[in-house]
Amino acid sequence: MSNGTPTYDAAAVEAARQADWLERRAFDTPAPAEGQAAVYVKPSSPFTSGNLHMGHVRDYAIGDAYVRFRRARGDAVLFGFGFDAFGLPAEMAAIERGVPPAEWVERCGERMLAQMKRLGFSFDYERAFYSSDEEQYRWSQWLFLTLLEAGLIYRDDATVDWCDTCQTTLAALQVEDGRCWRCHNEVRLIRRPTWFLRITPYLEENDRNLERFENWDELSLAAQRYILGRTDGVELDLQVAGGGELTVFTPHEGALGQARFVMLSPRHPEIERWVSGGVVREQLDELRSGGWERSARDAAAVPVIDTGESIALGAAGAGEPLPVLVSPIVDARYGPTAALGMPAVDEADAAIAARVERLSDKAQVEVDPNEAVAVIDAETRPARRYRAFDFSISRQRYWGTPIPVVHCEDCGAVPVAVEDLPVRLPRDVEPTGEGNALGERSDFVETACPRCGGPARRETDTLDCHFDALWLWIPAAVPPEGRSEAMFTHPELRRWLPSERLVAGNDSGGFVFDQRVVTKALRDIGPLDFLRDGEPFAGCLFHEMVIADGRKMSKHLGNVVDPDELVGRYGADTVRLAVLYAAGPAKTLNWTDGALRFASRFLQNVWQYVHGRIAVAAEAPEDPEAAADTAFMRERLAKWCDNGVGRITADLEDLQMHKAVRNVTRLFERIQDFEKRVVKRRGELSRDDADALLEALALLGEMLAPLAPHIAEELLIALRGTDAESAIGPWPQAEAAAERRTVPQAS
Ligand SMILES: [Zn+2]
Ligand SMILES: [Zn+2]
Repeated sequence: MSNGTPTYDAAAVEAARQADWLERRAFDTPAPAEGQAAVYVKPSSPFTSGNLHMGHVRDYAIGDAYVRFRRARGDAVLFGFGFDAFGLPAEMAAIERGVPPAEWVERCGERMLAQMKRLGFSFDYERAFYSSDEEQYRWSQWLFLTLLEAGLIYRDDATVDWCDTCQTTLAALQVEDGRCWRCHNEVRLIRRPTWFLRITPYLEENDRNLERFENWDELSLAAQRYILGRTDGVELDLQVAGGGELTVFTPHEGALGQARFVMLSPRHPEIERWVSGGVVREQLDELRSGGWERSARDAAAVPVIDTGESIALGAAGAGEPLPVLVSPIVDARYGPTAALGMPAVDEADAAIAARVERLSDKAQVEVDPNEAVAVIDAETRPARRYRAFDFSISRQRYWGTPIPVVHCEDCGAVPVAVEDLPVRLPRDVEPTGEGNALGERSDFVETACPRCGGPARRETDTLDCHFDALWLWIPAAVPPEGRSEAMFTHPELRRWLPSERLVAGNDSGGFVFDQRVVTKALRDIGPLDFLRDGEPFAGCLFHEMVIADGRKMSKHLGNVVDPDELVGRYGADTVRLAVLYAAGPAKTLNWTDGALRFASRFLQNVWQYVHGRIAVAAEAPEDPEAAADTAFMRERLAKWCDNGVGRITADLEDLQMHKAVRNVTRLFERIQDFEKRVVKRRGELSRDDADALLEALALLGEMLAPLAPHIAEELLIALRGTDAESAIGPWPQAEAAAERRTVPQAS
């Protein structure tokens, strides 16, 4: 390089900054000072089933930019996470490699942590944890017992896939085209008892709170609404011939007269009343064992049972009695309820009616306006239904939190006492995918009944990792040394909760929904009573995924972009800046080298320019006459800077990092423009102009620091001639912040 400008060596810069951060313990979670805001930013919890991928890089680059901004603004920040370490993907990967899952998970976790550090993510790494650690899953067990006692966990039959050869149940992801992933034999469905989480008591509150959310972006709100599956309509009570009433729902309030049938969910609480006939009962049993839980909303294919029963519509029993049907399409549309079928106004109902013999004629009946009037005397009331429903939380897998329940022949299912937790998972198991790895361990299974002391067997189902995830946002807010004693009651929870912002992938809606349910349950039970609205996250940003060549990245397609390789070639700052710049969070990021080239060129330019100007400034002469002549240019530069600060601050506040990157590049152009104009007018920079230029570049460094932290800090050190800690000042205030949107953009 000319003029002795140091070359931009990303690897050297990044290693130096990272060593300095470590030495200064720059990202330890601070105790907030009086009046200082405590901000807990929750990134997604990675699964320990491989390496860090580009989706993680996107997630953490957004979150990290935000927390660095908040720290610079003077807030006390907690940025911590834990690994979602239990679960099937980890178990399957371990089986493939012939190692115990415990070992595999640890290996993955360590590698991912190293990758995160190399990318410069400013987590409080000492707060990182694994959900598979005994200290963690002990609290998953505590949560299970607590919810069980509150009546929010229950046991019921569910349909699962079963492989006769492997003698094991299979998860959906282990079934490929109806065959076992391991032995390729056909699988069949069986019914077996499993544990369910009851979420229905909190659906309405989860719905209601959505209206009040302020810092939730559209993607995350849409995900919550989709999972709720709310339908508004009316309900009315129909008189059952043998006495009693049946409440039915319809979204088509104005078309009651068009009702042609009543359809019940197989999970309707009064279903037994309607399936008394032998044949009908058989049909229902068959439907239940046929895996209807996952049946689609496809009205042409979904199972439908005609109970042979009928019920009259309207208080006076006006019109012809309506046939009563049973079908899981009710669940798929409205949840476990009863609904009116209206073929004339509802396409799905029409498709159902066409498949039921008793209805095939009537379904063709054209809309008769008089008929609607005939039953308008039926008393309706506004009602709503939610598709979201209780779900199974237990799996027949080894690698999960053991369910703290013991089965005794005399006492039945008996919960383990809280003081006897944890029920330890044997860690030296090498599952093969055959049989039940836990069930075969007599040292695990055989135990004494907590109630009568007689011989008993431990539950060999484990909790689905979805259950661990219900509270995976809590441990980071508790200092590691406090976790064994007071995970859910630690005083610091009040400091950090609710989390100021969750940053997660757009596929996390289900997790978030259920975390919101459990927070409300724990509020009502007691430990989280200080979260009055029962919400774990005050704000939420969902981002779309990263794809390549317009397709999902997969080994199979050979289009996987490896973050390690990119960091090795370009440096962490370039990769981070490229990921942030390439797309707004709500858009799928289609990875191309274009963004990378842009980021690389930009950082190179800034590096060269800053070092070049430092050299020029050292030589700049005092020249009062020139300074007076260019005063208006310095004023304009100050305005540009102020305007840039205002815009970038707003972008960072909204986590719209792609906009922040663009505004940083614009600010850089303006600063260069200032120099060009001064030189054009005066031939060189005077002392005053050079000082103004360096000051503007330092400001640019501050703006760049959340987005490309290593290089920004290094440049600030060079510009200010101090160490890193004092080189990075507090976040600049835009003086014209209030009028920033009215200040016209300079061309
Ligand atoms: Zn098999
Ligand atoms: Zn017993």
